[in-house]
Amino acid sequence: MLAVEHLYKHFGGFTAVNDVSFDVEQGEILGLIGPNGSGKSTIFNMLAGAFPPSAGSILFEGRELAGLMPHRIVHLGIGRTFQIPRPFRRLSILENAALAGYYGQDRVSRAEAWQAAEEALEMVGLPTDPRAETGSLGAAGLKKLELAKALATKPRLLLADESLGGLDDSEMDQAADMLGKIRAEMGITVIWVEHIMGVLMRVVDRVMVLDHGEKISEGTPAEVANDPRVIEVYLGTDTVDTGAAAAPG
Ligand code: ADP
Ligand code: MG
Repeated sequence: MLAVEHLYKHFGGFTAVNDVSFDVEQGEILGLIGPNGSGKSTIFNMLAGAFPPSAGSILFEGRELAGLMPHRIVHLGIGRTFQIPRPFRRLSILENAALAGYYGQDRVSRAEAWQAAEEALEMVGLPTDPRAETGSLGAAGLKKLELAKALATKPRLLLADESLGGLDDSEMDQAADMLGKIRAEMGITVIWVEHIMGVLMRVVDRVMVLDHGEKISEGTPAEVANDPRVIEVYLGTDTVDTGAAAAPG
């Protein structure tokens, strides 16, 4: 579904993404992990068209995405969440999702956008009542709204950035289950970025690990959790989570 080849991003003299290649198969959940600053969000920003790659190729269902604008890419079927939610706080929850549904789909009627928004909110467990206020949402609710906005664009590939940030343990479990459910019930392929391994490891099919902009490991959760290079990167940081060691094969 997605073939990324020799992707680079330079910011001035700094290389944030350094020769990264990977594939994503339709129907899978790929985890993308790495310490803070390792280039995860930068890869998402290039996949979603927020900025162009410095070099490299991104083929989505056979079509080159490098250089396309974000609205073209979302219309082609790639939805993304943002690490830091910035909804329109004075619009309702439903209006936020409906705007995403309207502008994130190509040639869609307003009625279809509202419909997509309601379905997306139901999927993530947020109220579809038009009076439900965005300002009433806490950290977990804002993360759900990010997911709902991405789902309202009717993606075939979902890019989920740090969906667990700021959540407590039970909220993290819920968020992980939700990404599994999105794949199972909606048939959406997922790339899921986190800096901690934790619960991500029990939901993903495969994991890719970044460090300083480079891919240092790739494999099943069990393979990656036992890779000496990964252990080295994660030791001595505050991101070690013993959930990784207990990941099922
Ligand atoms: P991650 O999501 O893995 O925490 P990022 O992809 O956000 O990391 O950032 C990778 C590196 O690139 C960091 O050192 C960050 O400071 C840098 N970076 C990200 N975006 C920009 C930008 N727009 N301009 C300059 N540097 C950036
Ligand atoms: Mg990030």
